[in-house]
Amino acid sequence: MSDDVKILTARWGKKDSHTLASYRADGGYAALEKALSMAPAAIVDEVKASNLRGRGGAGFATGMKWTFLPKDVRPRYLCVNADESEPGTFKDRYIIENDPHMLIEGIAITCFALDIHLAYVYIRGEFPRQAAVLEAALAEARAAGIIGKRLYGKADFDLEVHVHRGAGAYICGEESALMESLEGKKGYPRLKPPFPAVVGLWGKPTIINNVETLANVPWIVKNGGAAFAALGTGKSGGTRLFGVSGNVKRPGIYEKPVHYNLKRLILEDCGGTASGRPIQAVIPGGSSSPVLRGDEIDVSLEFDAIKAAGTMSGSGGVIVMDDSVCMVRVLSRVAKFYAEESCGQCTPCREGTPWMEALCEKIESGHGVPGDADKLLDMANHIGGFTICALGDAASMPVQSFVKKFKADFERHIAEHRCPHGDAAWGVSQDSRDAVIGGMRS
Ligand code: SF4
Repeated sequence: MSDDVKILTARWGKKDSHTLASYRADGGYAALEKALSMAPAAIVDEVKASNLRGRGGAGFATGMKWTFLPKDVRPRYLCVNADESEPGTFKDRYIIENDPHMLIEGIAITCFALDIHLAYVYIRGEFPRQAAVLEAALAEARAAGIIGKRLYGKADFDLEVHVHRGAGAYICGEESALMESLEGKKGYPRLKPPFPAVVGLWGKPTIINNVETLANVPWIVKNGGAAFAALGTGKSGGTRLFGVSGNVKRPGIYEKPVHYNLKRLILEDCGGTASGRPIQAVIPGGSSSPVLRGDEIDVSLEFDAIKAAGTMSGSGGVIVMDDSVCMVRVLSRVAKFYAEESCGQCTPCREGTPWMEALCEKIESGHGVPGDADKLLDMANHIGGFTICALGDAASMPVQSFVKKFKADFERHIAEHRCPHGDAAWGVSQDSRDAVIGGMRS
């Protein structure tokens, strides 16, 4: 199978690709028309056969998730998770910006398949342009009779789609916090079970799917689930958008088969490191995914294969670091992010993430003492798996993997009482960095 099949990015870069006229000129909404001639259960069967797995991070089988809806409870809702906030991840925003009607068509087909008449797109607050593009596309679709009263002219099926802008909280990308926020409350994750498919928005069954996940649905309906499955391997079908950033010659978004090789992506597609220096480390799926050493990247990005390699392809955000990068400094940044974004509901996360951040900063600034790296690891081991939502795991996994794989770097900071990599990447002096650490201690 060719590595060059383009499902999601085929129309990117075309003039006015975000408009209804352009989308229709390229065959857009034919899949919706086809779907409306099918039995809803047959659409679900095609998605199950496609091996489409969630592109937001967890990689759960989409068709399987849809079957968790209780058969006899109405209304049901669809929430589209466009709260793309995981550091290193930047693909959903480009789908919305370049091809919003592909997403709208995916939403419409999904709602018809699941007998849902109201969908919400929860979009990250920092995406005003994408929100405006999506609102404009929805207005076009409404005016053309595609959504609204009588879905694509179907007499007995109405569908409304609302865009809801978040306010910049990372935790609102967690599905139950997203629903709380949509309901007008603080974005506090809920205890699960019950899962949203059973008790979701306003207590009703709710399906929550990521933007990229739903944007694949029109192609699946048009070409069949088997064709989509054939693009991938094992239990993972189709292509994925991998957003590559960090020390590479050609950063950007690459649409590749779901099982594409990570090393090939970095060396061939992205041209290797911009500096020409060796690859020291790669974060393969957004900042929460366990880091890989440079000699561990010859792996498939497919969900199960990369899990067997001890990490995850998560949200598809690949961050590449050459050997000039201070790994302790990177972990400090990551730890700071999760400490800032903890919602504070549960003690291990609320108390533990700032402690991990402080200890990282202490080691990084040369104030660490022997045993601090193990203490850091111990803290992480007491957070992951002991919290209400996955942020506890997200904060712990980088710490666990960085300390295990780059322990020598931590020990060197402690032994030399300084950062052996210097200040260049911070852009601040040692004095000002010490002042920050000192301020945190007081
Ligand atoms: Fe909130 Fe953290 Fe607990 Fe999640 S793990 S509910 S973010 S305190």
